Formats: sequence, C-alpha cells, structure tokens
Amino acid sequence: MAQAEIIDGKAIAASVRRDVASGVEALRRDRGVTPGLAVVLIGDDPASRVYVANKASATREAGMQSFEHRLPAAVSEASLLALIGELNRRTDVHGILVQLPLPRHIDAAKVIEAIDPAKDVDGFHPVNVGRLATGVGALAPCTPTGCLILAKSVQSNLEGLEALVIGRSNIVGKPMAQLLLNENCTVTIAHSRTRDLPEVVRRADLVVAAVGRAEMVRGSWIKPGAIVIDVGIQRVAGSGGKSRLVGDVAFSEAMQVARAVTPVPGGVGPMTVACLLRNTLTAARALGLR
Ligand code: NAP
Repeated sequence: MAQAEIIDGKAIAASVRRDVASGVEALRRDRGVTPGLAVVLIGDDPASRVYVANKASATREAGMQSFEHRLPAAVSEASLLALIGELNRRTDVHGILVQLPLPRHIDAAKVIEAIDPAKDVDGFHPVNVGRLATGVGALAPCTPTGCLILAKSVQSNLEGLEALVIGRSNIVGKPMAQLLLNENCTVTIAHSRTRDLPEVVRRADLVVAAVGRAEMVRGSWIKPGAIVIDVGIQRVAGSGGKSRLVGDVAFSEAMQVARAVTPVPGGVGPMTVACLLRNTLTAARALGLR
C-alpha cells in the first residue's frame, strides 16, 4: 500500500506567517496601527526561555512589535497582576501571553483571568473559552488552531467526520474538540480512563493525539485512510547514544495505514507560533475598532 502523505507543518506555518505579515502591513498602512505582543516570562526555565525567544523573533519577523518582560521566579503574584494591569491599559500592546507553567506560589487561573480577554492571544481566558464553546468569534488556543489548519490542508471540509481527540487538557484537548465540533465533526474525547483506546481510535477518520506518551498510538490502531495529527513531543533515547524527538503516534507504522500524518518535529510545533501571531493580528484589528 502507498505511504501516507506527510503533512508539512513547517511549510504551512511559513505560509500562515506570510499571510500575517501582509495583514500587519495592511493594518499599518490603512489604520496606522502596528500590532504589539507582550510576552511575560517568570523564572529561568531553559525550555520556556527558548520558547519566549522564538516567539519574540517570529513576532518581529512578522512586522509586529515584541515586548518581553522577564520577572524573577520569586516575583509576587501581586506584582505580576500589576504588570498585567499595565499591559491591559497600554494602547501599543494588543496581545498578552504569560508563559506557563508558573511558579507554584502563583495562582495561574487568577493570572489568566486578569488578562483583558480582547488581548488574550493564548485563548485561555474563560471568556474566550466560553465564546469558543458557544460558537461565536473567539481568540482560540494556538496549538489546536494549528492542528485544525493542518487537518484542513488535507481535507478542507471536515463535516461529518468521526474525529477523535486523545487528551483533555485545557490547552490542547478540550479546545481541539470544540474547534472540531464547530467544523461539524462527530467528536469523541479520549483520556487516561478511556476503556479500550485502540478500538476507539479504529473508528476515527481524524485522530488528534495530545497525550505526551511516546509512540503510544500504534499503526494497527489506525483506520485505513485516516488523517493523523500528532501534538505530542517527547525526547527518547535513539541509536548511538543520541536522543531523538518522537510524538504520541508511532510515525512509521502510521505512514503505512493513514492517508496523512504530521511528523514530529516539523508538524504541529511550528504551527503554534504561527497561530499566536495570527491571534495577535486578529486582536489588533478588533482592538482598533473598539
Ligand atoms: P497534559 O495536560 O499532560 O494532558 C495529557 C492528556 O493525555 C490528559 O488529558 C490525560 O488524561 C491524557 N492521557 C494520559 N495518558 C493517557 C493514556 N494512556 N491514554 C489516553 N489518554 C491519556 O498535556 P498537554 O499540555 O495537553 O500536552 C500533550 C502533549 O502535547 C505533550 O507531549 C506536550 O509536550 C505536547 N504539546 C505540544 C505543543 C506544540 O506546540 N507542539 C503544544 C502543547 C503541548 P487525564 O485527563 O485523564 O489525565
């Protein structure tokens, strides 16, 4: 049987970023507004520092302003909330992102709720979660939005598909299910207590795996011809003492049965930043009108 199509997340993300850059240019020309994204990083977790640096350079590349705020790990919740209040008021800041996870002494829910929902480019504020759930325009979370764009690059109309989301986190699984429901898929959400996951996966025309367990989804679980979107990223030991990145799906097995599969790396990963830039442009356009 022919191998599946490899969904090129890098190329699709580059095209989203080009579209954002032209939107930014048009907004500056027509309304004199330059979108601005503020990223707040607390502490010095090396992975978070890399993410924040990548976000900042991508923001500038798209022609937007990037404001970085680095706070020490011991910063008080009150100081962080005060900074968010200031960013909410600033007219040159259209998007606010607080890099998660936060130190234990800070209540993440309180911080997320302090962000003006109109500037909540992560889409985690309960107002945006509610807007997404009621099907009105919302700033939707970046990773699931990226997954949806990748799925639609294979099949533009997802209506009627049996879609399975494995994972129910607030960041990926739940908003992913909501986005697919809004596309008129028949959506199932699986999680750690799901009985007979292989059998549930076998029914799905579209599988989004957002678990964080290396190569858990086997090729024998996948329905022939299914579209497979792999959100997971795990570093595992490779040959010759080197490590390699893998997803939640056994990629080479999936390639034998599926219609299209996202690779790890180079699939969902690049889409997250691209969708963050897209949300910032959307927020800047809407804020300019209010
Ligand atoms: P999370 O908050 O840890 O959620 C994992 C979900 O997987 C939970 O809902 C959990 O179920 C479920 N799960 C755990 N074991 C399972 C099993 N054996 N069978 C079925 N479901 C199981 O993780 P997350 O933040 O959603 O992230 C998931 C993965 O995506 C991670 O590898 C993360 O690194 C990656 N990620 C990638 C990007 C990107 O940009 N590429 C962005 C975000 C996340 P319960 O709810 O029952 O515990």
